[in-house]
Amino acid sequence: MNTSPAKVDCPTCGNTVEWTPESRWRPFCSERCRLIDLGEWFGEERRIPAEEQAPTVTGVTEAADTPPPIVCHPR
Ligand SMILES: [Zn+2]
Repeated sequence: MNTSPAKVDCPTCGNTVEWTPESRWRPFCSERCRLIDLGEWFGEERRIPAEEQAPTVTGVTEAADTPPPIVCHPR
């Protein structure tokens, strides 16, 4: 009678993963699912400071490129 290996659900895709030394990416079913899970964590961290960034100012460069208006003094 063999003892069946414990099984866990992959946190990313929900696939059944056997908890054995062969399952090197456990509790994930594959390296891809592991990277996806890590990527989601990093994404959460990046989202917060991104909202605090000031909008880019375009008016300054626009004004610098525009030549000064020629003012005529009719006499
Ligand atoms: Zn998976």
